[in-house]
Amino acid sequence: MAVSAQPAVLSFPDARRVVEEQARTLAPGPAAPLALLRSRGRVLAEDVVADRDFPPFRRAARDGYAVHSADLASLPAVLRVIGEVRAGSSLEGRTVERGEAAEIMTGAPVPEGADAVVMVEYTAQRQGYVEIQRTAAAGENVVPTGSEARAGQLLLPRGTRMDFAEIAVAAGVGKAQISVYAPPRVGILSTGDEIVDVAAHPGPSQIRNSNSYSLAAQVEAAGAEAVRLPIAPDDAVVLKHLIAEGLALDLLLMTGGVSAGKYDLVEQVLAQFESEFFFTGAQIQPGRPVVFGRARRESGAGATYFFGLPGNPVSTMVTFEIFVRPVLDALCGAPPGKLRFLAVRLGSEIRTKTGLTRFLPARLSGEFDRTQVELVRWQGSGDAAAMARADCFLVVPPDRERLAAGEMVSVLLR
Ligand code: AMP
Ligand code: MG
Repeated sequence: MAVSAQPAVLSFPDARRVVEEQARTLAPGPAAPLALLRSRGRVLAEDVVADRDFPPFRRAARDGYAVHSADLASLPAVLRVIGEVRAGSSLEGRTVERGEAAEIMTGAPVPEGADAVVMVEYTAQRQGYVEIQRTAAAGENVVPTGSEARAGQLLLPRGTRMDFAEIAVAAGVGKAQISVYAPPRVGILSTGDEIVDVAAHPGPSQIRNSNSYSLAAQVEAAGAEAVRLPIAPDDAVVLKHLIAEGLALDLLLMTGGVSAGKYDLVEQVLAQFESEFFFTGAQIQPGRPVVFGRARRESGAGATYFFGLPGNPVSTMVTFEIFVRPVLDALCGAPPGKLRFLAVRLGSEIRTKTGLTRFLPARLSGEFDRTQVELVRWQGSGDAAAMARADCFLVVPPDRERLAAGEMVSVLLR
């Protein structure tokens, strides 16, 4: 692994693609079984397969009467009621013959012979007979056996991130325990002589270490484990020591010290680890000085990916969201995902300069199909409180000087 000769400032899409490319080379840690409910946010290390047909019997989709659709050719039809099928029961082998109907409940097996269920709303029962005022097509309100999945069919492939729908599927095939990958351990290293611990009383020119907390929260929300390292001063020797500690983990996230200042030492110290830099900047705002690379571990055992995120709190948050996630996905065992923007109507005009892709703190308002988005007032990338008032980023493409009120713009939800 050689130190790259020419560190590069990439366009936003190029930088993102580089991250996704590198992420695809990563593998997750070991797998272990976990109680199903605890698997939310984790990634499957096993395939989940249908253990039987879904549904396992012809399921009634409505409360009503199981009938022969052919018996409803002329209306009203009067059919003899031969019994009742509750959910969880059956007609015990009795077949519905022509001229007959069985009262049936949603979720119950449709008895032999019947090919449709007429909703109870279109029927009137009296003295062992039911009068039906509607025709029904064959198959109406009957979910065929195996129509959702056949026994043996793959329902959730290994690499699926578990959320409520996936947990429902796993529960449906009887997985009280499920095998998931261990969460990757992500080192978080804040740098800067002015940075002090949150519990400390800051001096007049000191700043509390909020980035370490926001990053830990983002890391945990992505299904990984945050390991917060001590604050590194802008001192090459101490910084090197702490970076070495961080590189022993699965991924290292640093904040601060990546700009062009005299004491921005992060890149310089990383180079001492035979680092390869994939990019040393991206044409974005906020977050332009972001660094992505891979460094050799001190133990000599392989390499660890790292991000040098700019220290301004909003820059740190944005660069995590747009660049760090694919690497975390891969380390968690999931295929690195694409970044997708949603189109929303812009509330009021925006003017910016061209050249950078901007991710600006913004807020959705309105409701339903009248949802719109507006920028949050902010004092720049140091303004974490503005980000707390925002619920998305408004994405301004690098070639636009003006976005007009009412036009559809891209947002990235947070
Ligand atoms: P830097 O990227 O080191 O030039 O820092 C840019 C700005 O972000 C400076 O105003 C720093 O004080 C601030 N900053 C850097 N690190 C942190 C941190 N861990 N928590 C909060 N603010 C920070
Ligand atoms: Mg600094």
